[in-house]
Amino acid sequence: MTAPRPRLSLEAYERGVRAKDRTVLAQAITLIESRQRSDAALAQQLLTGLLPETGRARRVGVTGVPGVGKSTFVDALGMFLVERGHRVAVLAIDPSSTLTGGSILGDKTRMARLSVEPRAFIRPSPSGATPGGIARRTRETMLLCEAAGFDVVLVETVGVGQGETAVADMVDFFLVLALPGSGDELQGIKKGVIELADAIAVNKADGDGASRARAALGDLKAALRYLPRKRASWLPKAVAISGLTGTGLEQLWGIVEEHHAALSATGELQGLRAEQQRAWMWALISDRLEQGFRTNPRVAARLPEVEADVVAGRTTPTAAAETLLGELGFDAGE
Ligand code: GDP
Repeated sequence: MTAPRPRLSLEAYERGVRAKDRTVLAQAITLIESRQRSDAALAQQLLTGLLPETGRARRVGVTGVPGVGKSTFVDALGMFLVERGHRVAVLAIDPSSTLTGGSILGDKTRMARLSVEPRAFIRPSPSGATPGGIARRTRETMLLCEAAGFDVVLVETVGVGQGETAVADMVDFFLVLALPGSGDELQGIKKGVIELADAIAVNKADGDGASRARAALGDLKAALRYLPRKRASWLPKAVAISGLTGTGLEQLWGIVEEHHAALSATGELQGLRAEQQRAWMWALISDRLEQGFRTNPRVAARLPEVEADVVAGRTTPTAAAETLLGELGFDAGE
């Protein structure tokens, strides 16, 4: 075991983050990512102290399958935004890194311009945590970035695994990147993800791809009208962009601002964020309860046998759940 790293005082963390000190911000994020109990208490004190400074950023989620052009796009959009006076934080979630212990590619190679831009801050999500743990750390990192004066937070998720829903649940605006296929088809949209989208950007609308992107866009706009509404005050939009040439980025950011204005005017944005907070609290409780349940010695002792019985069809899932919950003294449900 490695010895715990020295920590700053609560006051020093708070002061540093408020003063937009990037080094202290990075150290504060490390504190939040830590799994040491003493760090967890300090981290929560820090977040509570900084809470009044949070909530002012545009929170935008970006997803798309590998190869769709996310890195190129985030690099281009980030540069577009800093050149217009914004300060941009990019939080990159790579759920696969949980399993492999390593990230797919370094952020320096992935976002060549943004990674050396002083008005931007890029932070990959930690590996080795549970999906719930990754989501918690990313949310809390987002709050720290807001307190450090970043007014745009882009949360990027690699379009594999279950990351999309977790990200859609922590942002105001969820963007799905897709590719024009042959004819008027679209490629690279995973089933179920389209329902989460506030906008779909048909990427690589440049060179030979431009006319294909236009064809796909027409079809997509028609299809979006038939989707069930995600928000009362917003209909999902479609736009053709190129991360490579910058085409459509201005239009896209206009859509993000329009969405923000529409949802703010109706109070929906405030309601949405409040609901996200409530759901987050319950997600944390569920996570901890399940963890405690699984590691309880009495439950753990019976779990393999009971699980095997369910899989083999010797008992029903309901009876099995009652058996295991009964180990902890829970009565049968209604
Ligand atoms: P990611 O896996 O989604 O992060 O995708 P990358 O940004 O790494 O891009 C994958 C490939 O598509 C690379 O070869 C890029 O050069 C290329 N690419 C990315 N964006 C564009 C674009 O807007 N237009 C074109 N023509 N190619 C692009």
